[in-house]
Amino acid sequence: MPTPAPRLRADVSGLPRYVPGRAAPSDLVDKLSSNENPYPPLPSVLAAMREELGRVNRYPDPASSELVTDLSAALAVPPEHLVPGTGSLGVTKDLLRAAAGEGDEVMFAWRSFEAYPKLIWATGATPVPIPLRDERHDLRAMADAVTDRTRLIFVCNPNNPTGTAVHRTELEHFLDRVPGHVLVVLDEAYREFVDDTDVPDGIACYRDRPNVAVLRTFSKAYGLARLRVGYAVAHPPVAAALRACAVPFGVNGLAQAAARACLNAEPELLERVQTLMSERAKVTRALRDAGWNVPDSQANFVWLRTGPHTAAFADACEAAGVMVRPFGDEGTRITIGTPEENDRLLKTAGDWRP
Ligand code: PMP
Repeated sequence: MPTPAPRLRADVSGLPRYVPGRAAPSDLVDKLSSNENPYPPLPSVLAAMREELGRVNRYPDPASSELVTDLSAALAVPPEHLVPGTGSLGVTKDLLRAAAGEGDEVMFAWRSFEAYPKLIWATGATPVPIPLRDERHDLRAMADAVTDRTRLIFVCNPNNPTGTAVHRTELEHFLDRVPGHVLVVLDEAYREFVDDTDVPDGIACYRDRPNVAVLRTFSKAYGLARLRVGYAVAHPPVAAALRACAVPFGVNGLAQAAARACLNAEPELLERVQTLMSERAKVTRALRDAGWNVPDSQANFVWLRTGPHTAAFADACEAAGVMVRPFGDEGTRITIGTPEENDRLLKTAGDWRP
């Protein structure tokens, strides 16, 4: 007799899958495909983690209290507005679960962070993608598309994968138009790489807007991608709902200790960010000189409009030992790596012709 399969939610088998950047086939390949920080942890961060290693038989602090205290001081926000989670992705999932369910709509720009549609579907809500205009969020179209079923809107600033950023005035107009019962989530995973002073700091925007929440992460500028720690900044009702939806003990002790050590070593880490930003300027300039049309990026990656040649371009890069991230027949995202890695990329991309 055949064994009956467990009954699962009927819509789950059709959920879109997250397509991660492929693993590098060897250490000889430059992995410029996952927006990672190319620099390893600082000695002080490793020391903090080493100290935690001997305690892994114990559960971590479920509230990440010390990390919350440190973040509260660093960002000048009340501790009850801070909710750490398992990467900003973990917090995103909890935000969606707290705000939206079957019959509700969740809006985002497209193309944007690939995880949004998948996580939205998993809550049972309906994803509402609004096309980018010239590779930038079309905030006017997004405000026009709000319905009485809209529960949450993502604004990915700067946007992954195009690197483009929304400016202060347009964001403020948009926030003025969105009804106060709709939660607007400013996903600022790449905030530390912003050098355009017209790009607003989400933490300044959220303060007098109870329907705005901000997502930040230790994965990018702070280089802790593998540890999975990020956080939301939100007003108390949203923060409390997030805590209610979170998996208890989600943020592990190593991650809490390393994140605190990173905050302690901020000047050193931000120096590395500065290097990556200068490299971003170098890569952008060189690609433009080679004839590519590269949008201004405010993140740790650049976007190339490779169109129908996207797969061929990615193959050519990989053959030259550089992994980039192709997106269908739209374009290619290239993470800024070390100066040597970027030089190897430029050699291939500069010479490449379809
Ligand atoms: N938001 C955006 C826009 C991202 O690009 C990423 C990482 N690719 C994340 C969130 C997730 O980051 P984390 O590692 O903190 O989950």
